[in-house]
Amino acid sequence: METDVLVIGGSAGGILAALSVKKTYKDKKVTVIRMAERVMVPCGIPYIFGTLKDTSKNVIPDSMLTNAGVELVIDEVVSIDRPNKKVSTRKNGDISYKKLILATGSLPIVPTFIPGYDLDNVFTIKKDEEYLKFVQQKINEAEDVVVVGGGFIGVEMAE
Ligand SMILES: Cc1cc2nc3c(=O)[nH]c(=O)nc-3n(C[C@H](O)[C@H](O)[C@H](O)COP(=O)(O)OP(=O)(O)OC[C@H]3O[C@@H](n4cnc5c(N)ncnc54)[C@H](O)[C@@H]3O)c2cc1C
Repeated sequence: METDVLVIGGSAGGILAALSVKKTYKDKKVTVIRMAERVMVPCGIPYIFGTLKDTSKNVIPDSMLTNAGVELVIDEVVSIDRPNKKVSTRKNGDISYKKLILATGSLPIVPTFIPGYDLDNVFTIKKDEEYLKFVQQKINEAEDVVVVGGGFIGVEMAE
């Protein structure tokens, strides 16, 4: 497969990068590749556990990309060959590009310096639907929940 612009990562950063490129360069083929089948609205994640009650109500529609003419590939990039301008994917072989945008985002820091961080029923807030479904199930079963961290995400989760 070949594309003019390849964006790795299909969440907030990747979507906006792809849409901006496509809007500016209408004739270019723009492709987004992301691992997840469905992308969570990051800002809505705490509300899955409260008002929304269901991860399916917190999905960024793929039509945001496809309606704008951006190609979408669900796969994982496993390596980047910059001299030859191509990436290797787990399922779809190689994708050649002219320009590459990395929008691979972030994962929560696991505080391994706190003894017990790896016990059962200790979770982080990942932007991953299947993981969030599992956390939701565990929270539904729990009587007491402790939130460690009082930034925006901690406060929203507590609420
Ligand atoms: C609970 C929570 C609440 C938040 N609330 C707010 C808020 O209210 N307001 C706000 O502004 N921000 C909020 N944020 C922050 C916001 O989520 C991030 O700023 C935003 O998600 C960053 O987007 P991103 O696209 O850079 O990265 P990410 O959202 O981390 O996305 C990275 C993407 O890259 C993909 N990817 C990674 N590696 C590969 C690979 N090798 N191959 C293919 N795909 C790959 C991932 O699957 C993912 O789709 C919140 C975050 C959380 C966790």
